[in-house]
Amino acid sequence: SSFGHLSFEDKLLKAIIRAEYTTPTPIQAQAVPCALAGRDVLGIAQTGSGKTAAFLWPLLIHVAAQAPVEEGEGPVALILAPTRELALQIYNEARRFARVYDLRVICAYGGGSKWEQSQALKEGAEIVVATPGRIIDHIKGAATNLQRVTFLVLDEADRMFELGFEPQVRSVCNHVRPDRQTLLFSATFRKRIEKLAKDALKDPVRISQ
Ligand code: AMP
Repeated sequence: SSFGHLSFEDKLLKAIIRAEYTTPTPIQAQAVPCALAGRDVLGIAQTGSGKTAAFLWPLLIHVAAQAPVEEGEGPVALILAPTRELALQIYNEARRFARVYDLRVICAYGGGSKWEQSQALKEGAEIVVATPGRIIDHIKGAATNLQRVTFLVLDEADRMFELGFEPQVRSVCNHVRPDRQTLLFSATFRKRIEKLAKDALKDPVRISQ
């Protein structure tokens, strides 16, 4: 398939074919090689563009190269999303491909059981998908921490800001090690997102659909 151009391992290509994806979407064709090269990415992309897989595939390859997360350790990759619905969509897409590399994924969103989420977080997982307020709660409650995070995704950053999560998003960015890789996706690109990109990304590659 035309996914061959993305230089993925066979086992990931097989999972992509099983998912019945035949051609990379424009955002995938542009973002994947940059992210695989270790670059920060600023993607202007709407829902339906295939942006989730565009950040998930490089994320999984990055995480698979790290030592597994032990009990009591925080994740290697953190994905922030504005709503429970989006967090669950990302979680489902992540689980479909994380199997390939035997990686664990946890979803922690506002409105879900705090106790169940913190039990899962304490057991440890390589990848966490979360809404901003809820992950801060779990960090404050010592259910998880950001010490091992080296791959950070801010998805639908404009919606996170519209929902009032700017302080939480910024707090997370400020507490993740500066030598991380960061991917920021937003449907719109206005002053506040531009400012966030300037503060949270290093020399990003800009991509739009
Ligand atoms: P997203 O924009 O990430 O929410 O993706 C929108 C939908 O497209 C999801 O249901 C994905 O599973 C699907 N999708 C993502 N990438 C591809 C692809 N390359 N080919 C076909 N479907 C895809």
